[in-house]
Amino acid sequence: MAGQDYDYDYDLFVIGAGSGGVRASRIASSHGARVAVAEEYRVGGTCVIRGCVPKKLLVYGSHFAEELQDAANYGWTVEKMTFDWATLRDAVNKDVDRLNAAYTSTLENNKVERFLERATITGPHSVRLADSGREITAKFILVATGAWPVTPGIKGAEHCITSNEVFHLPELPKKVVIAGAGYIALEFAGIFNALGSHVTVVNRSETLLRGYDEALRDRLLQITMARGIEYKFNCPFEKVVKREDGTLEAWLKNQPEPLVADVILVATGRRPKTDGLGLETAGVELGEGGEIKVDARGQTTCESIYAVGDVTDRVQLTPIAIREGQAFADRVFGGKDTEIDYDCIPSAVFSQPPLASVGLTEGQARNKYGSVKVYSSDFRPMKNVFGHRPERGLYKMVVDAGTDRVLGLHMIGPEAPEILQAAAIAVKAGLTKADFDATVALHPSMAEELVLMK
Ligand code: NDP
Repeated sequence: MAGQDYDYDYDLFVIGAGSGGVRASRIASSHGARVAVAEEYRVGGTCVIRGCVPKKLLVYGSHFAEELQDAANYGWTVEKMTFDWATLRDAVNKDVDRLNAAYTSTLENNKVERFLERATITGPHSVRLADSGREITAKFILVATGAWPVTPGIKGAEHCITSNEVFHLPELPKKVVIAGAGYIALEFAGIFNALGSHVTVVNRSETLLRGYDEALRDRLLQITMARGIEYKFNCPFEKVVKREDGTLEAWLKNQPEPLVADVILVATGRRPKTDGLGLETAGVELGEGGEIKVDARGQTTCESIYAVGDVTDRVQLTPIAIREGQAFADRVFGGKDTEIDYDCIPSAVFSQPPLASVGLTEGQARNKYGSVKVYSSDFRPMKNVFGHRPERGLYKMVVDAGTDRVLGLHMIGPEAPEILQAAAIAVKAGLTKADFDATVALHPSMAEELVLMK
């Protein structure tokens, strides 16, 4: 193993036990390194503790509203339909506890020492633990502290919540205002809407889900408006005022009256968590947004310090942090030089209906390749027909006109993320529209639309 050095307390000290930090710790240890990790909150990080996992469980929970409504069409009688937020919330948080314990066991089983306190960097090879004041040395330091929600320029932001608090609400709000129209905003708009809250989404621009294909964004807007979600575009937040009865007023620019809500969720992006980490003591340079600047191998401007995941603000997605953590550990301690390929990363928004995408949008493809062909399928899923819901799915394929290669796939409709993950393999492999056409449809399914696009 490269890097084992008894001049230091550890070969590797990791700050942050989230997706990237845990993977790097475990793999470095499996290569024989002496590893310690510090975590100031809970082992598991954003994805497991207050992000992807509990969010997806809330999405599942909220879906029952639709399923129970449809049940009657299939002959089921549901005597009394009630929903109890506390039951769902507590069950979700119990599962988070289970995962927290599982991640902790993973570290234990891999002989990674854990310090459940904040650590700050005091030099290229040293950190200080906040509670005990203990100074620890390590040959390498890995920063994997992730990112944190921001509430930019909102006066009265202390009355709002972020995605950190949303999983612990004492009760289901009757009225919710959500600031932002990105991933978190649209996912929670769907959850609260399905659970029966009145939802208003407010954004500073007229764009929702910037970066996704326009046709899909339009379809999402149309369906969610029909489901009762209200939107206010081009309305930056000015201030939030708490009334005596505890309700909140959201004052927006260009609007004479405030929106009144029980809960205001701010989902206006996440900033790399680098404040007060002591990075300057080791000469680690930051970018304008507070992100740690790294090279292609995750090395910072200090030779012995590396960074992975959201704190570097490259692609804020869990599977990327995990890959970066693995590649770092394999490279520094396992002698394996793996480059991460950031091309064709599939992504999904767990809105209702969900949206999923891989590769280039039509606009991006036209800019890059000039001549592109677009194929699409605009269909009403069988389940929606039977459920008397007019909502239609939309699949779109962007193809290089010169080579017939599929450059991008974009989908909105039930189960779109599950279907797209498999299709993303074909796009990543560089397959052509003719390859899709040559594949026989699997009938009856929604996924068959992928091979039937005109
Ligand atoms: P997003 O970047 O998705 O969206 C941010 C939203 O806030 C946009 O609508 C943006 O508006 C608006 N906004 C940005 N800056 C400001 C500002 N200064 N003032 C007012 N509004 C602002 O951020 P999220 O917080 O929703 O999510 C953070 C990240 O977490 C995502 O980018 C994603 O990488 C990750 N994530 C991934 C999920 C998934 O994979 N399903 C789920 C949840 C999060 P505009 O577009 O007009 O600039």
